[in-house]
Amino acid sequence: MSDSHCLSCGACCAAFRVTFDVSELEGEGGCVPDGLADRETTTLARLKGTDYARPRCLALVGEIGVAVRCGIYAERPGPCREFAPLAEVGVFGTACNRARARHGLPPLGAGD
Ligand code: SF4
Ligand code: SF4
Repeated sequence: MSDSHCLSCGACCAAFRVTFDVSELEGEGGCVPDGLADRETTTLARLKGTDYARPRCLALVGEIGVAVRCGIYAERPGPCREFAPLAEVGVFGTACNRARARHGLPPLGAGD
C-alpha cells in the first residue's frame, strides 16, 4: 500500500497469506521485525495474521476501507513491495480487486 487509494483500503493486507524468504527477517540480517513473522519452513517466513481464516496482517493499522497504514512500511517484506508498485501507477490488478471484493469494496480500474 502506498497509493492514495491504498490509504483508504488495506484489503490486500487482510486477504492473502504473505510468505517471504527468512533472509528478510531482522534476525537474519534483513529488516522485517522478527516478532511479526512466523517461521513456515527453514527457508520461508510468514507475516503473522496472514494465515488466519479471516486474514489480517498484524502490522496493519486502522480500519479497512476507511483509513489504514502499514505499521512497518519501511521494513515490509518483498511481496508487499512488489504488490504496491502496481497501485502506484494506477494499475489495479485482479489480485487487488479480488482482495477489495472480499471486504465489500468496489473494484478500481486504470482510470481511478
Ligand atoms: S488491495 Fe489494492 S488498493 Fe487496496 S491496499 Fe492493496 S494494492 Fe492498495
Ligand atoms: S507488512 Fe504492511 S504492507 Fe505488508 S501485509 Fe502487513 S500491513 Fe500490509
